[in-house]
Amino acid sequence: MLSSNRPFLHGIDSVLQKTSLKDHAKALFLFHDQLNLEPFPDWVHEEKPLLIFIESRKKGLELPHHKVKATYILSSMRHAAISFAQQGYPVRYHSTKGHFDDGLMELLEESHDTAIYWMEPSEWDSRVRFQQLHNKIRETRTAEILANRFFFANAEEWKDQIRPGFRMEHFYREMRKRTGYLMEGDEPAGGEWNYDKENRKKIPSSLPVPKRTHFSPDDLTLEVMDMVKTYFPEAFGKLDVFRYGVTREQALQHLDEFIRERLDLFGPYEDALKKGEDVLFHSVLSIYLNNGLLLPREVCDRAIKEYEKGNARLSSVEGFIRQILGWREFIRIYYEARMPAVREANHFGFTRPLPDLYWTGETDMVCMQESLRPVFEQAYSHHIPRLMVLSNFSNLTETDPRLLNEWFHLAYADAYEWVELPNVLGMSTFADGGILASKPYVSGGNYINKMSDYCGSCSYKVKQKTGEQACPLNYLYWNFVNKQRETYNQSGRVNFMVSMFDKKGEAEKQAIEESSRRFIEHLKRRDCSK
Ligand code: FAD
Ligand code: SF4
Repeated sequence: MLSSNRPFLHGIDSVLQKTSLKDHAKALFLFHDQLNLEPFPDWVHEEKPLLIFIESRKKGLELPHHKVKATYILSSMRHAAISFAQQGYPVRYHSTKGHFDDGLMELLEESHDTAIYWMEPSEWDSRVRFQQLHNKIRETRTAEILANRFFFANAEEWKDQIRPGFRMEHFYREMRKRTGYLMEGDEPAGGEWNYDKENRKKIPSSLPVPKRTHFSPDDLTLEVMDMVKTYFPEAFGKLDVFRYGVTREQALQHLDEFIRERLDLFGPYEDALKKGEDVLFHSVLSIYLNNGLLLPREVCDRAIKEYEKGNARLSSVEGFIRQILGWREFIRIYYEARMPAVREANHFGFTRPLPDLYWTGETDMVCMQESLRPVFEQAYSHHIPRLMVLSNFSNLTETDPRLLNEWFHLAYADAYEWVELPNVLGMSTFADGGILASKPYVSGGNYINKMSDYCGSCSYKVKQKTGEQACPLNYLYWNFVNKQRETYNQSGRVNFMVSMFDKKGEAEKQAIEESSRRFIEHLKRRDCSK
């Protein structure tokens, strides 16, 4: 994969003064998703230990991560290192051909007296590797793992509760009470815990959608872009433009802009899809939240303040808080509770490779085109394309959910395993058999037609149920319900959708089965590694 031996730390090396571990009594290693010192203990702020950053080539090569994602992660790390140096911290920026722990070991060779600290990593494999490292070095030097404080909830307190029947809603209400967010005494603001009935609207074609600020890449980011294109030419996606912020200041600017221009309409159009509009009223803050440039508490505080000032409606602010205080935290606890076994989850037993179109974007289904385009261009799409289009299609075409999981991990800029995997194997593919979600999230063309303007320009007919011209999601949906009837009937009673299928005439049932078999078998497919 590596096609060049060019130096690629020029920009950062010319700013940071090289310092050896020998000159520091204490060193703190920061993972690539811990780019904020606020969650660290007071002594870090008072004593200003040596901060260690490591770029790991091996970690980067585990999957052909999207070029935009690689650029974002590396550039924001480099910017954070420089920013901390400007705040008076000594900084050591190191690149290794190995994993993060290999890189840290290389540096620790410089001094056997320096005490080393790191915060518990969010991702499982790093945690295992760093636990082994800790076991190895703690006999000979001070080495301490600090508790991870980048989240609201303590996962240890909650993880035993993760089982079928314990839903996000239980957790979310308790977190609302604990944080006091949108509470009036013991009651939820406005009298309801959830305002979804006021949300989930289709977007009117006349409603203007605010444009997001795009940041131009600076020299440091341009150098990373160049490096990514040179070293990882086969990585996923395009890198024609790079628009994300890579500093805390830019992340705060994007937060301000969302609060000012999009939060008020976040709720009503949270589930909407519109041709050519990839963000609508979503925040696009997950990339910043997931590597620490923004902290969940400050994002929630800003949204609540806007509600209190009367600038944003309750249904939107509650919907937004639910995503961060509810879903994001719950998902992380699920990861802590179910790893590592959940990696192999495959409730329906699907084993087909991922359809080719996830790698090429080539399809005549407008819903798939519109959902894949922003992924190729920006390593982003909002929640509904991820859940109700890309995962739905994968489920309906009987694709191995573990391969979809791998694809989501490499294709999205905000994808870190702790948040991506539960969303894919728990929520969107039902691969865990119903621990995270109460039912499979699958739908036919009707749902897409209700929430978007896609179907009018599609060569398939959304109203047609079977046959060459029919929207494939229509027959694939009923085929799925029929074949997975055991899962649908799990509660002991015949599920409403199963009985709807059973009431169809024999000819229609046969046409559904025949069209689905042909579609699924003729779909071009490819493994990630090929
Ligand atoms: P907004 O709609 O503006 O939501 C605000 C914030 O809430 C997000 O920034 C995010 O931090 C949080 N949030 C919302 N929903 C979820 C959720 N289900 N789980 C965790 N946090 C949530 N999110 C990731 O951060 N990384 C992923 O790799 C990821 N993969 C996903 C894969 C699938 C199949 C699905 C269905 C969802 C996935 N999500 C993931 C959750 C969600 O889709 C994204 O967080 C969201 O779309 C990010 O865009 P946004 O910042 O504009 O979100
Ligand atoms: Fe998608 Fe079917 Fe609508 Fe075409 S008709 S955009 S395939 S839902």
